[in-house]
Formats: sequence, structure tokens, C-alpha cells
Amino acid sequence: MSALTDLYKEIALCRKCEIARSRNTVVPGEGAENADILFIGEAPGFHEDQQGRPFVGPAGQFLEELLASIKLTRQQVYIANVIKCRPPNNRDPLPIEISNCRPWLERQVQLISPRIIVTLGRYSMAMYFPGKSISKIHGTAHVENGVTYFAMYHPAAALHQGNLRQDLLKDIQKLPGILEQARQRQDAKKETVPQPETRQLSMF
Ligand code: URA
Repeated sequence: MSALTDLYKEIALCRKCEIARSRNTVVPGEGAENADILFIGEAPGFHEDQQGRPFVGPAGQFLEELLASIKLTRQQVYIANVIKCRPPNNRDPLPIEISNCRPWLERQVQLISPRIIVTLGRYSMAMYFPGKSISKIHGTAHVENGVTYFAMYHPAAALHQGNLRQDLLKDIQKLPGILEQARQRQDAKKETVPQPETRQLSMF
């Protein structure tokens, strides 16, 4: 049993919001527990609510295509959402639902400790790129406290607005390079921090 699966049990018991009553299943997230890349969408939809898994409907199919275009599978990354319960009729998440659910997401981030957080759509973008507009910053990254944040359109948006499909396909091509940079930056940082053994030796 991992700390993440323990967390899923806690999430399943959460009743902070009204939508906990109308949901069918809670959708905490899934993927590699030590993933380098964490994708954060918006909220479970119909299919996710049925299966208890994120991004398993049409938007998920496109997300898998995007991942395949950079030779990744969903099992190699971690996929979560801003909120863990389906809003009725897929309405937008309410600010209170986002703030009630935020501690769950923060604990996931802490446990997975990804090198890169990819925001999918404006709700997760608003958490890590406050005040920014998605049409301006999609495909851009910034680094904060050693974590890289990368903003993308939501895959579902491309299902309604075909022109966003190309933007998503183009933006995701940047991820392998950004991951390599993040690895190099983190490795360089490790080298500059004296390891415990080195510190001990320098005492003599
Ligand atoms: N859209 C989301 O934001 N998340 C899902 O899990 C599915 C669709």
C-alpha cells in the first residue's frame, strides 16, 4: 500500500462539497507514482465518473494521442484533476469546490514530486499561472522552487475548436526538451549541495 493509495481512500471519504452527493465515483487520479510529469485537467466528466479514472472519455483519447506523439503512455505519467468529483451536467467547477479540493491536489503533488506540472486548460492554469490568459501563455514554461510549470490548452477544447488541435500537438512537442532541461538543472543542483559524506570528511 502506497501513501498515494492511502490518500485515495481519504479522498473517497471527502464530503466537503454538494457534488460529493451527486457523483457516482470519486476520481482521484492515476499513473506512475514517481512520474516526472504530472498533468492536471479540470474535473471528471461522465465517463470518468462512471469508471473512477481520469481522462477516459473522448478528451482522454486525444490526451493519449498527444502523449503518443512524444512516445509516452499514460502509465508513464500521472494524470489528475483540479477537482475530484463530477460537477452535475459537466458545469464549470465552482470556486468553493476548487478551494475545498486543493489540499488533495497539493498532497498528490507532494507525494509524486514531479519535475514538470502540465496544466490542461484554464482552471489548473489559474492555480500555477495566476492572472494569465491561456491564449497568451500556452506552450510556455516557468520554473518555481525547482518545479517546471508548463501550460497547455485542455484537450477537450480541441474537440470543439479544431484549430486548437494543432496548438496542442505543437506545444506538447516541447515537453521532452523541457524535461531534459529540468533533469539537468536538478542534477546540477544536487552536485552543488554537499552530500552528508562529503560534509563529514571536510571536518578532518
Ligand atoms: N476532462 C478533465 O478535465 N478531466 C477528466 O478527467 C476528463 C475530462
